[in-house]
Amino acid sequence: MGDLYIDGEWRSAQSGEKRQIRCPANGELVAEVDEAGAADTEAAIAAAARAFHEGPWPRTTARERGDLLLRVADLLRRDKAELARMEALDTGKRLVEAEFDIDDIIGVFGHYGRTADQDAGRVVDTGNPDVISRIVYEPIGVCGLIAPWNYPLLQVSWKVAPCLAAGNTFVLKPSELTPHTSMHLMRLLEEAGLPAGVGNLVLGAGPDAGAPLSQDPRVDLVSFTGGLATGRQIMAAAAGTVKKVALELGGKNPNIVFADADLDVALDYALTAVFLHSGQVCSAGARLVVEESIHDSFVDALVDRARRIRLGGPFDEQAETGPLTSAAHRDKVEAYVAAGLAEGAVLRCGGARPDDPALADGFYYLPTVLDRCRSDMSVTQDESFGPVLTVETFTDEDDAVRIANDSIYGLAGAVWTQDAGRSQRVAGRLRMGTVWINDYHPYVPQAEWGGYKQSGTGRELGVAGLDEYREAKHIWQNIDPQEQRWFSG
Ligand code: NAD
Repeated sequence: MGDLYIDGEWRSAQSGEKRQIRCPANGELVAEVDEAGAADTEAAIAAAARAFHEGPWPRTTARERGDLLLRVADLLRRDKAELARMEALDTGKRLVEAEFDIDDIIGVFGHYGRTADQDAGRVVDTGNPDVISRIVYEPIGVCGLIAPWNYPLLQVSWKVAPCLAAGNTFVLKPSELTPHTSMHLMRLLEEAGLPAGVGNLVLGAGPDAGAPLSQDPRVDLVSFTGGLATGRQIMAAAAGTVKKVALELGGKNPNIVFADADLDVALDYALTAVFLHSGQVCSAGARLVVEESIHDSFVDALVDRARRIRLGGPFDEQAETGPLTSAAHRDKVEAYVAAGLAEGAVLRCGGARPDDPALADGFYYLPTVLDRCRSDMSVTQDESFGPVLTVETFTDEDDAVRIANDSIYGLAGAVWTQDAGRSQRVAGRLRMGTVWINDYHPYVPQAEWGGYKQSGTGRELGVAGLDEYREAKHIWQNIDPQEQRWFSG
């Protein structure tokens, strides 16, 4: 039995190639899985196209589809421990964080399961008694779903659940680094009764297994979460067949701290904002933008705590954060820090691999703080996607907003102040899809998620998430057609 799920069967890659999946915490082999190439993805697209155009799925009722998603939520709950363990081994993240992720995933399937049949269309009152005019929602068709490695099954669930709720079929390509929970999800979808061909899974590298999803004319929509450079390539490739494109890309997110904030709490959250999952979070608060008057005391205290963060593997209960996902990713973070130092940033802590021999086989990097940064430096503009905090200062509210908005990204940000008016003013002026006030990181599946500017094109989650996966059709019915005699003859 292979690891690719195509047309209701588990198949091996046509090339016979395999990829080794290694735990980033210690380099140990987790498994070898099939490595799909373009031919496998094309077979999966053919299955998804057949299931869409000939199968029953798009014509099921929204409630039937919602009920299937609710069954999946129950199965995810049943298998939570196993899923969390798989996610922890593939990503190296702490087991407790993986468990939180699975709870979130259950919540996402539950949300779309419950709401699948809400907002099912509407009648438009034209004022003309001889006309019936309706807006109905229909699935878009075959969706190519491409996901990253940082929150593997969570990012997949943000796509798969609304995609199915709207009646589409899909080909899913998770990150080549983190295949296991996606494989398990396909088993659960099958167990919940998803018809063959509706959901398909290919594993493998982006340029081989992923690229056909943005090029093949049989794919109607490509939904991608990942880095900006890949997003640009996908958008360009999708232009050839004018696919609908939904992109959730990177971020370089400011965490603004005013002097009047509750500084103990702001400090605590500033650490979580950037060092959670070793900074491998798209919404990580990787830019501390702090009021000049409190810079020294705030940053000194932050550095003191950052130095004491305990690193360790998924099952080390003392660990506060884990490794980076791969050696290549750690190389990228190291190059990013070196560039920042060359630009004049001041290293306050970290900037190196840990010297603990127990961590030597994993891809660890110390929590790092780069002080005296400015928004015109590449180190504050580029996403490191690692445990690296840059520090900038501001003088007043306008200055804080100007610095925070000085970015090509617009995914998320936060403002810390006890002045309610100021918090609302600043939140309103930040050009970001999510702004937290006196908080960092929470999200709920009912609310929207998505980026302004080059952080993305669409909105996932909530009603907007469903809307990304459906077309609105206007049906106009003349119920009393009369001769018009516009033309003589
Ligand atoms: P990545 O862009 O390297 O890869 C993402 C996915 O795209 C992987 O599955 C990869 O195999 C695939 N891919 C690569 N090239 C492709 C191609 N030419 N055609 C089709 N697929 C291709 O990103 P990553 O390193 O896996 O993830 C980290 C990035 O994801 C960060 O930039 C992070 O900010 C972003 N991210 C964004 C969000 C969000 O909600 N906005 C959430 C999580 C992660």
